[in-house]
Amino acid sequence: MVEVEHLPVVDVHCHPFLNRGSVSAEEFTDLTAFGGGSRKYMEEGGVEWSDDLRDELQAIKRHTLYFKRMILDLADFFGVEPDVETVIAARNAAVAEDYSRYVARLYGSVRLETLIFDFGIPLPMLDVDQVKSELPVEVVPVFRIEPLIADLLKEDIGWSEFRQRYDDTISDALTKRGFKGVKSIIAYRTGLDVSPLSRTPDQGLQALDAIRRGLGGGSMKKLRDHLLCRALELCMDHDVPMQIHTGMGDFEVNLVLARPAYLMDLLRFPVYRSCRVLLVHTGFPYHREAAYMANVLPRVYLDLSEGIPFAAHAARQIVRDVLAMAPVNKVCYGSDGYTLPEINYTSARLGKEAVKAALEDLVAERMLTPADAQEAAELILAGNSRRLYGLD
Ligand SMILES: [Zn+2]
Repeated sequence: MVEVEHLPVVDVHCHPFLNRGSVSAEEFTDLTAFGGGSRKYMEEGGVEWSDDLRDELQAIKRHTLYFKRMILDLADFFGVEPDVETVIAARNAAVAEDYSRYVARLYGSVRLETLIFDFGIPLPMLDVDQVKSELPVEVVPVFRIEPLIADLLKEDIGWSEFRQRYDDTISDALTKRGFKGVKSIIAYRTGLDVSPLSRTPDQGLQALDAIRRGLGGGSMKKLRDHLLCRALELCMDHDVPMQIHTGMGDFEVNLVLARPAYLMDLLRFPVYRSCRVLLVHTGFPYHREAAYMANVLPRVYLDLSEGIPFAAHAARQIVRDVLAMAPVNKVCYGSDGYTLPEINYTSARLGKEAVKAALEDLVAERMLTPADAQEAAELILAGNSRRLYGLD
């Protein structure tokens, strides 16, 4: 038997949130759903907002197995019937009484002790100290490069100042503002097919000049590719890990160009071999591909977030699939939770169950000894992330 109940959990990839107070069942559903299906999305498509349309979108979100599981977990936590209205009423009562104490009880029940937050969502960026002051757990901030790139593009500056400010802002975040790593969502923008030769500063200069002159011609991709290379170099300089989004995300992601394999040329390039890179969401649904990369590229790590919890009962299979190729000491539990604390909670419960079930299967199949499996659970749920982010 693999014992997970007593094990602490580090959530290696998620997004910060503040106390929103009481929420309606409709708001709760919208805030916790996987990204998509909003009023704005439909109106932009010429579909007029109506009660019927709202009911249609709500029904879709409430019929995902992920959502049903979250309601079950919360009903169990509060000791109430598992229907949405009852659970949200219990939740709002606990929040009204004392938000931080509620989160402490919720997270304490599953021993969720550390949240590594990508502060790139929501925007404008939340105040790190304010987020920390509300949450009764260890908070570790990570700095996202894309909002910085957007800010610099709005400024009337040439390449040398652009590059200097890009470098300085990231370095300041890591040395003075308490950020413990860097994150990129280039998969959402121009894709993961980044040539390592993009690292030459001349490419940045040429690309910014072309953008300023309105020439197009792939100049935005050239600029982003260069800046991703530069971010990897800054991570190596400051000895922190780089998180790169791979695989599924909200409806804007380029799911074809989000395949982790597109990163092979970049990450195996000699200059970048020493950089510790976390493939966020382990590239799900291309998670086997990412697992292979963690096997052959010594400094590449995987994060199980988003598949857990949003792919619901696939959690156990994802852990199993990933461990086929990925070394046990490279796989980190994560949730990709955002907006409300309940996502991280249900994900941690599901994650613990999935890790336990998958590892017990592997013991039964004589792939691991019981002691190996117990160690693997500790590493995946917390130890690997603590080591990667130097948290001890
Ligand atoms: Zn995320």
